[in-house]
Amino acid sequence: MRFSEEQMRIWDPLNECMEREELTMLQFTRLRDTLNRAYRNVPCYQNKFHSLGLVPEDVKSLSDLPLIPFTTKEDLRLNYPYGMFAVPLREVVRIHSSSGTTGKPTVVGYTRHDLNTWSELVARFMTAAGVTEDDIVHIAFGYGLFTGAFGLHYGAERIGASVIPMSSGNTDKQIMIMQDYRSTAVVCTPSYAMTMADRMEKLGIDPASLALKVGLFGAEPWSEEMRREIEQRLGIIATDNYGLSEVMGPGIAGECLHRCGMHIFEDHFIAEIIDPETGEVLPPGATGELVLTSITKEAFPMLRYRTRDITRLDFTPCACGRTHVRMKKTMGRSDDMLIIKGVNVFPTQIEEVLFQVEGCEPHYQLVIEREGTMDTLEVQVEVNEAIFFDEMKKQRAFVDLLEKRLFSALGVGAKVKLVEPSSMPRHEGKAKRVIDRRHL
Ligand SMILES: [Zn+2]
Repeated sequence: MRFSEEQMRIWDPLNECMEREELTMLQFTRLRDTLNRAYRNVPCYQNKFHSLGLVPEDVKSLSDLPLIPFTTKEDLRLNYPYGMFAVPLREVVRIHSSSGTTGKPTVVGYTRHDLNTWSELVARFMTAAGVTEDDIVHIAFGYGLFTGAFGLHYGAERIGASVIPMSSGNTDKQIMIMQDYRSTAVVCTPSYAMTMADRMEKLGIDPASLALKVGLFGAEPWSEEMRREIEQRLGIIATDNYGLSEVMGPGIAGECLHRCGMHIFEDHFIAEIIDPETGEVLPPGATGELVLTSITKEAFPMLRYRTRDITRLDFTPCACGRTHVRMKKTMGRSDDMLIIKGVNVFPTQIEEVLFQVEGCEPHYQLVIEREGTMDTLEVQVEVNEAIFFDEMKKQRAFVDLLEKRLFSALGVGAKVKLVEPSSMPRHEGKAKRVIDRRHL
């Protein structure tokens, strides 16, 4: 694909294209400042350092980073709500929070300077995705405590685009506004993009009649197959970006138009990949858990935060000219990883198989049960009418094909159940696809 000069713009070339040597020096200077501030102002960090007999001065270069203990979501819970803040509340101008699936949510804060950094970094990845001041950016993330909508909102304004703060829900109205206001860029979860594509099809609206050009998708893991499907059905370029509220929200990493991994903004974050079992730092290129250290945040510095996201880093040069390392699409949080009959399975692996088979619709659910001591995995997938109403023999052959493909991709058997078109729940935010009925 060829891109125009406008699409290939780099928001902050000085920082995004910095030579590695200079970048390493900048990272270390900023890391030292962050360590000092975190140690002085956050008792949780100070206690962890003390228990190891460590002081910030012991970190003499970037290679000493592994000396610093990890921070986990549990630390944030134990210090709920403001215990991890490194500045007095008077200096905090924004508070966000992430919904905890269990127990208390986690609370994060931003100073005015942090908000400015956040907008800059979102502006970087939006520009990398080809968004300019001429775009009309339709934000269909839910506004509220969740960082997604506000993050993208301020980044798009920073670029000078026209922002429609649509928020989530009410798909018909979303589509009407997209048609009438001529939205050119859409921001939502990839699963909601599919929901909108389905609805347009039902309403007989041709996506080509819209002004949409690009989608900025995030907040949940999604496969390359799903990307292709979204691009084809909506006639747009679908880009991925990465963030998590505990570290910043969106704006940690984002794809350029080459879509070969998300550039991590290394002048603000240091990324490591560890073995999630042993905590050991893995060599470049290895797949493991992403660990992030923020090096410019004032209100809420994060030292070696365990993201639980499984990915790998790619240090090869990117054709766009940005020098920052790229992280591959995440396979999902290690919390999302299912252990079925002792085998590790990510829902995105199942999604990839389903999307490759003609006749499967992009809606599925995984049901896990335990019969006696045996785990069973049932994949319920919507199929098109032709298959659903086909004769039994053909349906059986279709199920056999899916089961065979799943077995070779996962290494564990799954039972496939075909369900009627449009019978699965549609998602307006993050998709909930796993029903685990085992009492583990
Ligand atoms: Zn690039």
